[in-house]
Formats: sequence, C-alpha cells, structure tokens
Amino acid sequence: MMKYLLLLAFLAVVWLLWSKRRLNGDADASPRQDAAPEKMVACAYCGVHLPESEGIAVEGQVYCCEAHRLAGGAKER
Ligand SMILES: [Zn+2]
Repeated sequence: MMKYLLLLAFLAVVWLLWSKRRLNGDADASPRQDAAPEKMVACAYCGVHLPESEGIAVEGQVYCCEAHRLAGGAKER
C-alpha cells in the first residue's frame, strides 16, 4: 500500500512540475528555432553566403573562414 502512495506522490510532483513548466514555457516555448531565418552575409573575399554567426567579422567585413579573412584582410595592411 505504501508503494502506491509513494507512486502517487511521485506522479503528483511530476505533474506539478510539468504543468508549471507548461505555464512558464509559453513565453519561451521555442528558444531555438532551427528554421529561423538567420541573417545571411556574404564573404568579402569569395562572396559565398553564410549565416552571420558563422562568419568572421573584421572591421565591417565578414569572411567565411580564417583563410579568407587573412587573404582578404592582410593585403590591405
Ligand atoms: Zn570566403
């Protein structure tokens, strides 16, 4: 009999947490949207488009990789 009480209490706690989470979760139901259109930028060296977060931004220019940052940025210095 004690087992069932424990199980019931456990379920009650789980349900409470779950319902709380659901209430709070409405604001940030989907913190990560994979399909969210991220701002795209073009590599200043080769022109390939990439998400801004993956680019290397240097002095207003964005490069797709370290090699192009060096190739595109080193020349002008
Ligand atoms: Zn590039």
